[in-house]
This record gives sequence, structure tokens and C-alpha cells, in this order.
Amino acid sequence: SLFPALLPAATAAPATADRPALRFGERSLTYAELAAAAGGTAARIRAAGRVAVWATPAMETAVAVVAALLAGVPAVPLNPKSGDKELAHILSDSEPSLVLAAPDSRLPPALAALERVDVDVDATGPVPEDHAGDDDPALVVYTSGTTGPPKGAVIPRRALTTTLDALADAWQWTGDDVLVHGLPLFHVHGLVLGVLGPLRRGGAVRHLGRFSTEGAARELNDGATMLFGVPTMYHRIAEALPGDPELTKALAGARLLVSGSAALPVHDHERIATATGRRVIERYGMTETLMNTSVRADGEPRAGTVGVPLPGVELRLVEDDGTPIAEADGESVGEIQVRGANLFTEYLNRPDATAAAFTGDGFFRTGDMAVRDPDGYVRIVGRKATDLIKSGGYKIGAGEIENALLEHPGVREAAVTGEPDPDLGERIVAWIVPADPAAPPTLDALAGHVAGRLAPHKRPRVLRLLDTLPRNDMGKIMKRALSHD
Ligand code: ATP
Ligand code: MG
Repeated sequence: SLFPALLPAATAAPATADRPALRFGERSLTYAELAAAAGGTAARIRAAGRVAVWATPAMETAVAVVAALLAGVPAVPLNPKSGDKELAHILSDSEPSLVLAAPDSRLPPALAALERVDVDVDATGPVPEDHAGDDDPALVVYTSGTTGPPKGAVIPRRALTTTLDALADAWQWTGDDVLVHGLPLFHVHGLVLGVLGPLRRGGAVRHLGRFSTEGAARELNDGATMLFGVPTMYHRIAEALPGDPELTKALAGARLLVSGSAALPVHDHERIATATGRRVIERYGMTETLMNTSVRADGEPRAGTVGVPLPGVELRLVEDDGTPIAEADGESVGEIQVRGANLFTEYLNRPDATAAAFTGDGFFRTGDMAVRDPDGYVRIVGRKATDLIKSGGYKIGAGEIENALLEHPGVREAAVTGEPDPDLGERIVAWIVPADPAAPPTLDALAGHVAGRLAPHKRPRVLRLLDTLPRNDMGKIMKRALSHD
């Protein structure tokens, strides 16, 4: 058989043929079996223009995506929890020829008009010859919709190989690594890093179906080496650690614990470090750029930072007027802009949004604001659109206030926003899920707590108590759902 450039280990036979590739529940595939299963599905979709994938956390989803890559047909992963309206938007935007699904999946009415192809993991076929070029689209991944309706990012093959090889360098990631995976498969984190990453290296993935601290502990204590998670998962781990020696042992023995998709609260980072002696490393990426920065496996982990630019990624911070910020002083805030072979090509059907997202010299405007420590470590302070509060002449990032609030014993969850204020321009609002709903902390107590840790102008002026924070399926806080009335 031939050796497609994208996933050499998945198809390059003898050396890896009998090694484990994927495991979902009871079901596992070696590399030879994966190549055969993906070959079987690839043969059925070769004539398609684009294929949608009903991305349940199942073996069929991984096989479908590998099949599409082998066939050179762009895949559009769909979130099975999306509502009909969102699905209808994605389908009319991406116009797939068919939808690949696991035989036991029930598809909603929004997909009724689309031809359905069931993925049969046991139906095998040869790996097709690889005709796709580096600039050809491999995936169309919709953004999380945190700041507006999801946009379809067209991701070329070059971006996948570039980002995965850069992460291999930063994380000393090899074919001997075994990943514990508990994330959904329709975003970059779960699909590109969590499935394609190990497959490109020739390592194994064990998917938990649904994340649990018990599942993560079991796998890490049974030979798995890495855990990828979102901050809500590490929060659950931090909460569970004190009474759980199995989990403590599992984390202490892991080679690499990685967090991403949103900021990992410093409080959770520190609690995990204290209980296990291990520091979670953070990486920062986006649908449009895949991965931009990471703390390196051989570097110094530091709470509250996303590390340094990955090999091949040019990163700069710029002021509102476009002036680059030279200072790495831990204080000068600017928008992160990135350039490199890791970037997407365009937003599907959105030439205006695509044009607006790039600068004249080809940097992508991330919309994320950050400062740089003197040694180059990047600290994200928040998103330009929702996390930057202009109050009393200061520009204040919501993130550090959230971190300070989370260290208060009366606070379980915290989100900070700004709302209009006649004197200050904007005033700082703390949205709090109290640890004990019967005895929530007072505004005075929280303002005093924050003022004791940060500059006084960063203290919240308004307290709003909630039962839960609005979060999407990656655990990201949906600040646009926090209404001020
Ligand atoms: P949309 O673009 O539709 O509003 P989204 O930006 O949440 O949604 P994604 O592409 O999934 O969609 O997420 C990328 C964003 O996630 C980044 O721009 C950044 O704000 C955030 N992010 C990712 N990793 C980290 C991290 N380690 N720390 C802080 N923020 C992060
Ligand atoms: Mg975004």
C-alpha cells in the first residue's frame, strides 16, 4: 500500500501495523485495522465534494474522519448536541454531499434531506492513493460560537501536519505515548489534537466516551501517559483529588497533563500541583490557527500562562492602532496576532470576515488580549470583545479578577464582565456561583479580597449570584448569555 503523507503511521504498515491505534469502550483497532476500516469507508465517499460527520464520541467518528482524509474529501464534523437551527445553518453553509454516521445514531430532522452513509468499522478496503496536496482543505471546523454564530474555518492539510509536528516538538510527543481522551470530537481540541495527533505519531488513543475522574485515573494507572482536558475537567480533578488516592497516583505518574480551550484557573492549577507534585501545562489555540503557543515539556510550567510560541509560529502583541508592543514586561496589553503554516485558509462563504481577520502583512487577528513575561511566556488576559473592561481610565482584563475571586473560599465559579457606568465608563461585575448557596459571600467581602491581591481599581462593584454559569460543550463560559438586566 501507499504511504499517505498526513498519517504515515496509520498506513505505513509493518512497524506499526499491530500496534493499538484507537480504543472506544470495548472496541479497539490496531493501525492495520484502522487503515482497512478507513479504506473501506473512503471507497464509499470518493466522489463526494464535502462530507459531514455526525461526530459522536465513537469509533465510527474517528474512522469517518480518517477515511475522509485518506480520500482527500474535506470533512465537516457536526456537534450531535447542536439544535436544529444551528445544524441547518452549518448544512446550508457547508453544503455536504452526504453525512457519515455510526449505524446506531439517530439523526435529527435537520439532516433528513441529506444522503446518509453508515460507517461500518468491519467493512474493509485498501488505502487509496493519496492525491491531495498540502494546500487542499482537509477539514471545515466550526468555531465554538462563544462570541457570535459559529464560522466555518477551512483547514488545509498543511496546517494539520504543521501544528501536530510543532506540538510533538514542544511536548516530546512520540509513538510510545498513550492518550486518555474525554473530549468531544467536533472541535480542534478533541479531533485534531486528540485523534489525529496520536495517529500522526503512531501512538494510541483511549477514549472515555464521557469524561470521568475515575476513567482518567483508571487509564493513567494502566499505562496511559498523557491527558488532554479542558479547564472544567481539571476543576473536577482538583475537587476530587483530596479524597482519592487512585487519582492522585494517576496524575503523579502521568508524563504530561495538558489543558486548553479556555484559561485554566490558577487556583485549580495550584491545587493539582500541591496534591500530586505535577503541574498541568497549558497550550493556546483556536479553530482558525490550530495551536499557537504552549508551555514546553522541557520548559518551566507556570500557572496562568500559555507558554511560548510553537516552532514556526510568529506571534506579536499589538495595540489598538496596530503598533506592535516591543516590551515583554508582564504589563503591556495587546492583541495577539499570529502568522505561520498553522493557519486556516478562510472562513467558508465569508470573504468579508476572512479579509477582516487578517492584517496587511498576513497576521491573523486572534481577538485575544495578552501580556508577555520578560522571558517570553504569554499570559492571556481575556478576549477583546468580552473580557476587556474599560473602567476609570484603566483597561482591565477579566481573567486576573476571576482568578482572584476563585481563591475566595466562598466562591465556586466566577465570571467577570463590565457594564456601563456613568462615572467609570464601565464598572466591574462579578457573577458568582457560591460554594454554599445558603451563605453566599458579600460584595464587600469579595471586593476586599480582590483589592488585597490586585490593584484597588480592579475590585468588583456589583455582585450577581447565580446557580450555574452558562457554558458551552467545551466548558467555555458564554459571557454573551450573562445579561445585565
Ligand atoms: P467563536 O470564535 O465562535 O466566538 P471560540 O473563539 O470560543 O468561539 P474556538 O476557536 O473553539 O472558538 O476557541 C478559541 C478561543 O479559545 C481562543 O480565541 C481563546 O479565547 C480561547 N482559548 C483557547 N485556549 C486557551 C487558553 N489556554 N487560555 C485562554 N483562552 C484560551
Ligand atoms: Mg473565536
